[in-house]
Parts: sequence; C-alpha cells; structure tokens
Amino acid sequence: MSAPVLEVVRLHKRYGGRVALHSINFAVEEGDFFGLLGPNGAGKTTLLSIVSGLLPATSGEARVLGRTLRASDLDLRRHIGIVPQELALYGELSARENLHFFGELYGLRGADLTARVGEVLSVVGLSDRADGRVDTFSGGMKRRLNLGAALVHRPKLLLLDEPTVGVDPQSRNHIFEGVRRLNAEGMTVVYTSHYMEEVQALCRHVGIIDHGKLVACDALSDLLRRASGVIRFRAGPLTPALRERLAHLPGARLVDGDGEQRELACGDVKATLAQLLAALNESGADLHGLETEEPNLERVFFDLTHKALRD
Ligand code: ATP
Repeated sequence: MSAPVLEVVRLHKRYGGRVALHSINFAVEEGDFFGLLGPNGAGKTTLLSIVSGLLPATSGEARVLGRTLRASDLDLRRHIGIVPQELALYGELSARENLHFFGELYGLRGADLTARVGEVLSVVGLSDRADGRVDTFSGGMKRRLNLGAALVHRPKLLLLDEPTVGVDPQSRNHIFEGVRRLNAEGMTVVYTSHYMEEVQALCRHVGIIDHGKLVACDALSDLLRRASGVIRFRAGPLTPALRERLAHLPGARLVDGDGEQRELACGDVKATLAQLLAALNESGADLHGLETEEPNLERVFFDLTHKALRD
C-alpha cells in the first residue's frame, strides 16, 4: 500500500508560552476529502501553515507523500496547493494575469501554462471574467480566484483554510463544486471550517479540533453514528405512567425543559418518534409542538466538548 498523502505525527506548536497544537496525529489517504472542523482559535490555520511548509513546528513532523516536509524542500512543496484565509492576489492585474503569475512561480511556461490557466478559470467559474481587473471583483469572486491560484501547478494535495468565510451563496457553490470536481478527479483535499454543514456535506473523513487537540478523527459516517439525535416536543402535563413509559423508551433519554418543553435524546430518531407519538396518543396527552434533529457534527462536537461550535 502506498504512503498516505499527508501524515501528521506528534505535531506540537507553541507560540511563546501558548500551546496552539498538542501532539496532533492523523493521516490522509490518497483521494480522500478530509475535513478539519473546529471553532475559531482551535488551531486550524496553524496546522495548515505547518503542513504546507510555511511555519515550523515546535516538535513532531508532517510527512507528505511519505517524505518529511521541510521548508527548504521545494520539490516536495510543489505537490501542495494552499488556499490561505487571507487573499494573496494582485488587484491591479486581471484574473488571468494573476493565474499566469502563480503558474510561472511554479515553473510552468508557454502553451502548457496558457492551457492550464484556462482550465483553472473554468474550475472556479471565472472564465467569463478572466480579463477583468481583480480589484473590481466581489469578495466571493476574489475567494474563487484565491482557490484558482493554488491549483495552477496541479498539486496532489490541496489545503483549504476556511475558504467560504464571508462568501456569497453563488461563490460558495462554485467553490464547493470546483473542489468536489477536483477531488473526484483524484486530488486529495484537506478542508478546514467552523461550519459543520460544509464539512458534513463535503468530507469523507473528519478530524475535530478544539483548543489545539484533535478530540476525534474518523469516517464521517462513524462519527455521526456515535452522536445522538434529538426530538423536541411540547406536551401538556405528563401523567406519571406516561412519564415512566417515555423514560424507558429504548435508547432514549428524557430531559425536561422550561414549561411544557421536553427533549428526547436518542440514537434512532425515526423509531423513537413513532414510539413517542404512540405513547402520547394512547395516554390522551395533547401535543403542542414537535421538532426533530438527526445526528449531526454539531452534536458530535457538543458531545465531545460540552460546548457549541459557535460559542
Ligand atoms: P480561526 O478560525 O479564527 O482562524 P484557527 O482554528 O485557525 O482559528 P489559529 O489561527 O491556528 O486557529 O490559532 C490557534 C491559537 O494560536 C489561537 O489561540 C491564536 O490566538 C494563537 N496564535 C495563532 N497565531 C499566533 C501567533 N503568530 N502568535 C501567537 N499566537 C498565535
């Protein structure tokens, strides 16, 4: 079996007295779409900066394509494309000229470079604005071009640092579709975000990071299996018999909220919902409101850290 495209081994980073990463370990196999989910300040940018060779680790290492990554190893770094949070573009140049510039930096020339720039403009949905000056672009279009700049040299590993922050829905969809297509064509992707919906929609494997610690790392489906779903309902006073029945629904936990508000945390939302409705119906209790939530990454994060992602 070939080496993982990216392997992070006991990676530790300190900024002065502050520990930003605590001995992080994970591997990303070729062709994977790996999400790194965590709140602001969790350490995502620090981690990506180290694995792209832009920032030294305090200890531990990152291996890319089986080789220890060193800042001086430009040959290896050529296989990495990084889309930083901060835009790195020239406003007075056109989209096409920007991509030419980045392609030349990586040694592309002539017809190959021209063709590649055309392909990248199409991937990020900017072909029709290719010759417009970048300082006339919307924020979302600049973000799409920022992604394009990381792609011109055909990297094997694409690292994206919260690429959709502050982006309009149309640009967000272009970014999603572009990155999905690249991944389907074989590019390995590491995608950081604090939006659980994005990670859940895009990624096959997910690492959850909080305060510089990787608190979980698994296939998305396995992480979701660990989490509970929730049924929130409002119902009139529960008789002792009904309360007893609800408290003993298999795999469910009844929690009282304010007034009539109650929650059933459960593994199987559909099955528990059917049992709840039957129990309410048979006891003649009035149901005044009902809402269900399937297990999601927000819940996984909460179960692991006892905090909401957006606190
Ligand atoms: P965000 O989503 O807000 O960018 P993040 O998950 O990317 O957050 P980092 O930017 O990696 O997190 O920051 C991790 C921790 O390290 C934070 O506590 C941050 O304040 C600290 N930090 C980051 N860069 C530096 C630096 N250059 N000097 C000192 N501390 C830093």
